Amino acid sequence: MRWLILADIHSNLEALHAVLNDAQGKYKRILCLGDVVGYGANPNECIEILKRFGDYKLICLMGNHDAAVAGILSLENFNDYAKEAVKWTIDEIRQANLKWLSNLPEFFTMQYLYAVHGSPNEPLTEYMDENVAEISFQKIVERVIFCGHTHIPFVIRGKNKAEYLKDKEVVDFSREKTVISFPSVGQPRDKDNRAGYAIADFRTKTIEIHRVEYDIEAAAKKITSAGLPNFLAERLKEGI
Ligand code: ZN
Repeated sequence: MRWLILADIHSNLEALHAVLNDAQGKYKRILCLGDVVGYGANPNECIEILKRFGDYKLICLMGNHDAAVAGILSLENFNDYAKEAVKWTIDEIRQANLKWLSNLPEFFTMQYLYAVHGSPNEPLTEYMDENVAEISFQKIVERVIFCGHTHIPFVIRGKNKAEYLKDKEVVDFSREKTVISFPSVGQPRDKDNRAGYAIADFRTKTIEIHRVEYDIEAAAKKITSAGLPNFLAERLKEGI
């Protein structure tokens, strides 16, 4: 069965629309690796689109921004831009959507798979890398980790160094211990400014990375008009 893997949407409605259009017909279920909100100007709209898929079709995990907006995680470790965006989102978010965010699970497991926003050790906040991967596999019984949070697509196979994953790249996770960090839908940071997503095929045990153009100008303009920091609009153009 094929799943759509989303990560770090960050309230970017234009990017989410582009990804869902591009992925149409390619998947049966959706796994979202957290950070639906934060940074962008459309938190309610992004949540409402996801909610419409329903609880069977969509599994959405909690990210650090989702947790901060829900009041579960303190803002002390957020940088100033992120803090400002969280506070703005708290003012904007509708009650039902806040409740939805508050109830998101921190991880999801299925057979050999462990999915999480950050890492098995610190589900909300830890950034994945080779060291974290090694420690993670000592803590869990699963053989494959899917994560977000880094906003950079890469794979760590066994004890090897992380390898960057570009558009159209296919990763086989059928054998060894494998960590896959997925691209960000709404705030790419790998200097490719296109929205990112992946399709996971659990029959062949492979994922394929996809990048898709979206209306960056519109998303950036909304950020500026909303009174959010201008840097959050500019970085979308650069993909940083
Ligand atoms: Zn994020």
